[in-house]
Amino acid sequence: MTANLLDYDLEGLAAFCASLGEKRFRATQLFRWIHQKGARDFSQMSDLARSLRDKLPTVAHISGLTVITQHESTDGTIKWLFDVGNGDAVEAVFIPEDDRGTLCVSSQAGCAVGCRFCSTGHQGFSRNLTTGEIVAQLWFAEHFLRAHLKTNGERVISNVVMMGMGEPLQNYSALVPALRVMLDDHAYGLSRRRVTVSTSGVVPMMDRLGEDVPVALAVSLHAPNDELRDKLVPLNRKYPLAELLDACNRYLEHAPRDFITFEYCMLDGVNDQPEHARQLIELVQRHGGTGVSCKLNLIPFNPFPASGLVRSPQQSVQAFAKLLSDAGIVTTVRKTRGDDIDAACGQLAGDVKDRTRVGQRIAQQRTVMLTLVPADAVTKEARGS
Ligand code: SF4
Repeated sequence: MTANLLDYDLEGLAAFCASLGEKRFRATQLFRWIHQKGARDFSQMSDLARSLRDKLPTVAHISGLTVITQHESTDGTIKWLFDVGNGDAVEAVFIPEDDRGTLCVSSQAGCAVGCRFCSTGHQGFSRNLTTGEIVAQLWFAEHFLRAHLKTNGERVISNVVMMGMGEPLQNYSALVPALRVMLDDHAYGLSRRRVTVSTSGVVPMMDRLGEDVPVALAVSLHAPNDELRDKLVPLNRKYPLAELLDACNRYLEHAPRDFITFEYCMLDGVNDQPEHARQLIELVQRHGGTGVSCKLNLIPFNPFPASGLVRSPQQSVQAFAKLLSDAGIVTTVRKTRGDDIDAACGQLAGDVKDRTRVGQRIAQQRTVMLTLVPADAVTKEARGS
């Protein structure tokens, strides 16, 4: 079996090239071809020595993920469902805004954490994605969008959020090289603050991430006390709030001018009352004496039948936001994007919940895909898979 070069960060690719007797600068050239130019065919790589171009197909390949479906919202949001084999599929979502293009990327097929309000959590855990499968979402989206939006080779994706399916910090060994690819100037060159890892609070891995790649950190908080958080985010029973907030402050030691973004999904009558806001203020401003340098992001819940939960009315969200803002906490209310294609937060995996149907749908929708994705991109993906 040959190596998939999407699995490597630059160091990994340099080691791979060294194993072929090639110098490091060859790895840099290859890396740029793959990530900056979207090449998947070694024969295109005109500045590589011919002997290396001939050797590479015998020891390596560059394989992306097969697109099962692509849906584009009226607001420009695009959602892709990718086949990751054995009936599993993962989603990535592109969200265009005036000043940025954000790609939401998945790290696992399913998720083992099982948060109450999350449709991915309800589908259970299937497996970790490889580094190559994480990187392939960005690689495909970036080069597809350049062609789709006719940018003349200009970069489209400026921000990546690891907020798709899965708990990224429970797939740490695949995540870290993928983050390094995103940050590498020879690949996507994203700045550290424009790559966000979102975690439900895997405390030991937060510490490691701070040491290894201190990108922006978002923490799924969703409750201001342990009793409620135990019910909404089961991982809280292992790493309760005090430990989680200590870990946030340790993380910020690695990125002193940063802040933690606390995500808070607004659930009607569950965590959206004024008393919850007051507890939340106390928690983030007083924890450990100094509090945590943070922003609060209030997220409208996207209901799905199995959750038994209801979205907070807008006036509750506004009142909650006002209490936080009045206390001096920078607070935003997330705009829902891509509602018409189920691409909003917490809706990912809605399409793959029933795994028994995924295999069937993959077969059916490969045909549909031909009409949804420009022929050029389909041909390339089909070749890459
Ligand atoms: S919110 Fe995140 S950690 Fe929780 S179940 Fe969903 S994907 Fe997993």
